[in-house]
Amino acid sequence: MQQMSLGASEPASSWYEAVQPAWPPQATRAQGLEQLAAFSSKAGRAYQTHRNSDLGSGRHGHVSLLSPFLRHRLIDENDVLSRVLAEHSQSEAFKFVQEVFWRSYWKGWLEQRRLLWPEYQQQLPRIFQRATQNRRESNDYTAAVNGATHIPVFNEWCEELIRTGYLHNHARMWFASIWIFTLKLPWQLGADFFVRHLIDGDPASNTLGWRWVAGLHTAGKSYLATAKNIRTCAQARLAGRSDHELGLNKLATATFNLPEHLSAKALQKTEIRWPAPETADVTGYRENHGRTALLLTEEDLSWMPSQQPQGVVALSASPRSVIASSSRLVSRFTESAIHDGLQRFTRHYAAAGLPCAEPALDDETLVQWLVEHRMDAVVCAYAPIGPTRLRLRALRNRLACKGISLRMQMRDYDRLVWPHASRGFFQLGKRIPEFLDIMRLGV
Ligand SMILES: Cc1cc2nc3c(=O)[nH]c(=O)nc-3n(C[C@H](O)[C@H](O)[C@H](O)COP(=O)(O)OP(=O)(O)OC[C@H]3O[C@@H](n4cnc5c(N)ncnc54)[C@H](O)[C@@H]3O)c2cc1C
Repeated sequence: MQQMSLGASEPASSWYEAVQPAWPPQATRAQGLEQLAAFSSKAGRAYQTHRNSDLGSGRHGHVSLLSPFLRHRLIDENDVLSRVLAEHSQSEAFKFVQEVFWRSYWKGWLEQRRLLWPEYQQQLPRIFQRATQNRRESNDYTAAVNGATHIPVFNEWCEELIRTGYLHNHARMWFASIWIFTLKLPWQLGADFFVRHLIDGDPASNTLGWRWVAGLHTAGKSYLATAKNIRTCAQARLAGRSDHELGLNKLATATFNLPEHLSAKALQKTEIRWPAPETADVTGYRENHGRTALLLTEEDLSWMPSQQPQGVVALSASPRSVIASSSRLVSRFTESAIHDGLQRFTRHYAAAGLPCAEPALDDETLVQWLVEHRMDAVVCAYAPIGPTRLRLRALRNRLACKGISLRMQMRDYDRLVWPHASRGFFQLGKRIPEFLDIMRLGV
């Protein structure tokens, strides 16, 4: 998360010519692994040195671009960390490894404030309505989401986001800071705009990333996008244009304190009873749970239960926003990712001839399918806080009425790391070597 400025003596040729994979990527596990293999040699000192440079659309070769795959767990943290640490020492890959744990930090932190995201979602329509009723805010919001503000460099990021479904981390920070402190628009609407357009849009990383920039995550610590920093880290895409041409002379020169709209209860840490590991009792399993279907959700498309299920089914993609639909890029990637998951699992269990429902099902059809196939239980990977989790909660009640139980199994990685995300990142970060040892990745 922290920035590091590039030294003035950086050899231009080595970092200007960053080649990135074809974009948008295919939403498959195979593509995620291929991209990981192509990137892993750069995850050491090269990443540490160049990761903060936003070279522009199609040139994000200094970062991994793995976030869409991690978002849906087409590949998981273990895949990424084990591949990278097979090529680099922990100290060489320290920065990259730390960034992967930033994702886990946000996930675990939000999980321990389980009322925060639902309350933010509940407030969104009102915030949106208020913004549309205020002439100044309405004009500025419309300009911001259409890339038509008086700040050309901001407009360029907006265009890139809409066209590609991706923005470099630094651009996300600058964009959010300008949205909040220069355009003076509600952070909630910015976060909503992001999550509908980012292919990797994630309730935890996105909501909390915006709150971090706004100074609401760490009290009194907000993030100011400055012309100097943008010039240093985005020089390759600024093409020698002046501050005036880019609108950098119009940026806010100071941040201000934002009011907190969430209730004290939503911000309060809740005690979590982390789900127990899956039972390894093969003989008693079927007797305990009965006929069990594996349910795939967009939250985790590679988790595999320890026991073979009696059927495979997937839940259709969940809407990401309560005020507007996701972009076509986002919908297409998510739907293809779910399709890839279904195909892989169907192939995996093909010999057993399990019934598999294709394509992904909505809630109503899913319940029907489970009843028709005489399932007693459904098992799925733990769905973290977000729209899918809310759907699963409602589904659990509907299924209970049909005598079908639904249980979520948490991955060992999440059970290991998330409980340490209760305070600042530092508390979790200092345990990274210990986590890697437990994962047998420490050298
Ligand atoms: C306002 C804002 C909104 C964001 N919204 C999202 C979001 O919706 N989804 C999302 O995955 N990330 C989000 N991020 C974090 C970060 O920008 C992206 O994860 C990163 O840019 C993805 O590109 P990459 O895969 O090339 O990252 P790399 O630099 O190659 O990092 C490797 C992996 O580490 C994780 N990671 C890296 N940086 C961060 C970070 N700061 N926070 C959390 N995880 C990180 C990602 O899973 C990423 O794929 C947001 C950041 C900000 C400031």
